[in-house]
Amino acid sequence: APARAELAAALDRVRQKLGRDHPPVIAGKALKPAAWITSTNPAQPREVIGRWGRATPADADTAIAAAKTAFPAWRDTAPAARADILERTADLMVARRHDLSALIILEAGKPWPEADGDVSEAIDFCRFYAQEMRELARPRLSQIVPGERNTLQWIPRGIGVAIAPWNFPLAILCGLTVAPLVAGNCVIMKPAEQTTVIAATLFDLLVEAGLPSGVVNFLPGFGEDVGAHLVAHPDIAFIAFTGSRTVGTAIWETAGHAWPDQRHLKKVVCEMGGKNALIIDNDADLDEAIPAALYSAFGFSGQKCSALSRLIVLDAVYDTFVERFTAACPSLHVGNPADPGTIVGPVIDAEAKAKIEGLIATGRSEATLAFQGDSPAEGWFVPPTVFTDVKPDHAIAREEIFGPVVTIIRARDLDTAFAIANDTDYALTGGLFSRSPAALARAQREMEVGNLYLNRPITGAIVERQPFGGYRMSGGGTKAGGKGYLENFLNPRAISENVLRRGF
Ligand code: NAD
Repeated sequence: APARAELAAALDRVRQKLGRDHPPVIAGKALKPAAWITSTNPAQPREVIGRWGRATPADADTAIAAAKTAFPAWRDTAPAARADILERTADLMVARRHDLSALIILEAGKPWPEADGDVSEAIDFCRFYAQEMRELARPRLSQIVPGERNTLQWIPRGIGVAIAPWNFPLAILCGLTVAPLVAGNCVIMKPAEQTTVIAATLFDLLVEAGLPSGVVNFLPGFGEDVGAHLVAHPDIAFIAFTGSRTVGTAIWETAGHAWPDQRHLKKVVCEMGGKNALIIDNDADLDEAIPAALYSAFGFSGQKCSALSRLIVLDAVYDTFVERFTAACPSLHVGNPADPGTIVGPVIDAEAKAKIEGLIATGRSEATLAFQGDSPAEGWFVPPTVFTDVKPDHAIAREEIFGPVVTIIRARDLDTAFAIANDTDYALTGGLFSRSPAALARAQREMEVGNLYLNRPITGAIVERQPFGGYRMSGGGTKAGGKGYLENFLNPRAISENVLRRGF
């Protein structure tokens, strides 16, 4: 971790550059936007981070036309040369690592370690997808038959859009953008409204690293407006989306519609929410389980798709666990994320605060409020909140809260615990703390999640090491940062040649 002085210097440097304008950019040209939208610091809403230019559906059409023009040359660029640009992007991010973290702190409200993790993940995505593309580009021979040469080739799909959420404002947008790019596609970036200045910074880095104009285009704007228009457009061949269940399912449906002038089935990579459970077995090591649960529930104020939302605690250990867990909660320092000691910062905006507070009010009527911390008056803060006596059918046990709220549910035995854990539409992350090899083996067979964590926090996925993504209403089963991910953005072509006729 960087020293305090280094962090303070980075914050100073970044603060001096705040307040700039970030217009949409198509084929290297800045557009005059329909309107300017101000982005502010969630911890200190009077601090302006910058302004971004709102693109319109007509601008989206222009961006698609520019991408179509740029596509043939980019498709025909050697995969190794495309991979080199990703490596250069990673190098630039390494060189500016602390400044990028500082901007994430200021615009997204992430505490230092979380912001730094966001930057690391973006770097890892660039390097991993570059390496994957180099490997995919090697000619692959399939079955050897005398006289016949069979190979598999991967060809880019065309023009697509990356639609990203605000909660990993650098890493997720970066991953969704660079994977299709390195595969030889042209991409229109549609970042989240809340973190567009970070997105503009990433776009500038990609251009600086050498992406030709028109290959990547920057189109900030509102989801239901410019985002929906891009998704429906017949020339869009793929949609790389991460965000909420509501928006993800709407995109899935729209993309499934074939317009008369459409020439391909759209590929949708869709990663959505979770309602993640951690089971605490009777024999769990509570010295390890409690800090892991605290981090999983309250890291980045619970605003992670992987965050712990349901703690399912076995009967014999329930009272002890609740007592020790709630006693540990006051150690969560709530405050300005720019302060290196902060563990819980603000939530992203006023709308998120109101939504989470509404669910807390519902929780008070359904269950027992066992802990609620303090939080600063200024800024979009919600204090860490713990509910006990929660029943699996309570609204707070079913809806994704996406805030610093954890629900604790009592389970009679392990059978009941697994049944409760799986009784959700989502299947993203989950875990078990237990000393029993049999229970750990059961979790591997029975817990219906895309990422399972045993005796460790249920959040955090390192690129390549823990390929990330869920299924059911959490996503389409794709794994970001995993082998095979690039194939989502490529079409396979099987080539079979009678080599005996070669040269005749
Ligand atoms: P969101 O769905 O509100 O917005 C995501 C993006 O979709 C934004 O860029 C938005 O402008 C755009 N959008 C909105 N309406 C649209 C439409 N009709 N057509 C096209 N685009 C549209 O999500 P959010 O609040 O930014 O992010 C939080 C959500 O993301 C949570 O549910 C969280 O669980 C999920 N998430 C999932 C993962 C994962 O890997 N599974 C990772 C991070 C976040």
